[in-house]
Amino acid sequence: MVIRRFWLCVNHLLLRISVKLLRILAKRVARAACLKPIDDVKGAVKIYPLPHMPVVKDLVPDLSVPYAQLASIKPWMQTQTPPPPDRERLQSPEERAKLDGLWECILCFCCQTSCPSYWWNGERYLGPAILLQAARWIDDSRDEMTGERLDHLEDPFRLYRCHTIMNCTTTCPKGLNPAKAIGSIKQKLVERR
Ligand code: SF4
Ligand code: SF4
Repeated sequence: MVIRRFWLCVNHLLLRISVKLLRILAKRVARAACLKPIDDVKGAVKIYPLPHMPVVKDLVPDLSVPYAQLASIKPWMQTQTPPPPDRERLQSPEERAKLDGLWECILCFCCQTSCPSYWWNGERYLGPAILLQAARWIDDSRDEMTGERLDHLEDPFRLYRCHTIMNCTTTCPKGLNPAKAIGSIKQKLVERR
């Protein structure tokens, strides 16, 4: 009985510490300095490199891991059939509209470096910026490798480390919604089963 009470207290304490830690971490999201009007800043201006990334020098982070992750999802159109001989591959306005909210990404990595799951599993979890890029090509009606793209993402770490904490969407300076894009990939994986 005494041991049971002791473990209940320990568990309660650990839970409180975890919640507090998550609240602190949730505030440590990146903001794009280039979009902040200088007149809105009171007092001294503090500028930091992207958080949670190794720093090469001054404000320059080492982005070799996210760039390698970007290359892994093959962010270009892949086709198997030859294009029409007399024109480019066409999309209907509806097909093109599906890419809105995805193509605008400038790969600033604010979302990537604000994601707690990426801090903890950055070597294996692709992160919100890369997954938004993956969604951009999965949703492109002209791309013919959708199945292979989904196969690549169907992995406990590459995709499923997203726990819908939503820091990515809160922090995006372009107003994009990486969490929604990740949700749409998960939905497509369920639908194809
Ligand atoms: S929603 Fe997913 S990708 Fe976005 S911050 Fe949360 S865990 Fe990271
Ligand atoms: S989704 Fe937004 S925050 Fe993330 S890399 Fe693209 S522009 Fe930056």
